[in-house]
Amino acid sequence: MHSGVAFCSRRWKKVNMGIFDEKVAVVTGAGRGIGLAIAQELAAGGARVAVVSRTEANSTKSANELNASFPDSARPYALDVSDTAACMATGKQIISDFGKVDILVNNAGVTRDGLCMRMSDEDWDTVLDTNLKGAFNMIKAVQRSLLKQADARVINITSVIGLIGNAGQVNYAASKAGLIGLTKSLAREFSGRGVTVNAIAPGFIVTDMTDGLTEEMKAGILDRVPLKKLGEVDDIAATAGFLASPRARYITGQVLAVDGGMVM
Ligand code: NAP
Repeated sequence: MHSGVAFCSRRWKKVNMGIFDEKVAVVTGAGRGIGLAIAQELAAGGARVAVVSRTEANSTKSANELNASFPDSARPYALDVSDTAACMATGKQIISDFGKVDILVNNAGVTRDGLCMRMSDEDWDTVLDTNLKGAFNMIKAVQRSLLKQADARVINITSVIGLIGNAGQVNYAASKAGLIGLTKSLAREFSGRGVTVNAIAPGFIVTDMTDGLTEEMKAGILDRVPLKKLGEVDDIAATAGFLASPRARYITGQVLAVDGGMVM
């Protein structure tokens, strides 16, 4: 993951340096994995970034990494996005620290897999509260500021599983399909103010979330991926960077699958 982040920084320095100057971004789940790569991509383009993660150690580590590459670009916030009151308080704090929010990336997500027949209420609630309500909470927390900015962006990280379903993931698939419905509805609500709202649907990306897959499971996945390889965090970060940029100003309410052709 770290070499991928370095690749991102070099690419942005070459082709897109300064594209996010003066922009403030909030990235949830930026303690590691895809969220950290997205935070790095935005900071490399000149954004100041609120690095939100559930555990303080991870949000601090990520913010330190960003500040080492791009001085004064990041501040850490430890937050459980499923906690509505805490999201409102953190949103206020972020706006007080940075003055505004231009870009919100709802990336925090968890899995609690199991067949529906055996799934506990707790596993259902944890996944829905984090992946779907967490995005709603963060939108509520910063929407007033977003709506005041020219060219603001909301980017929701959903999943191909929200499009096609998966045995053993009724909770995760429902949360990610719900996030797609939220994206399209919010795109319509915010369109009058020029705020675009889009979703990225990653396929299988190499992170802690997919680390637990057995070799047999990975081979099964590769069978379904026309490009015949798993994705990297950079593939999602580059897409988020594009959607956050002025070049994507006429794109809203869309779900962009970044999945090696798995869903087409
Ligand atoms: P990851 O490596 O497991 O990292 C998840 C991140 O989300 C961590 O920073 C974690 O915080 C944070 N998080 C989890 N629960 C949270 C909560 N309640 N409040 C705040 N932060 C929370 O996951 P990933 O693979 O990078 O996935 C990122 C997003 O992409 C998720 O929404 C996931 O569903 C989606 N996605 C991933 C894949 C894939 O193949 N990896 C495919 C499709 C979609 P801590 O670090 O503090 O624990």
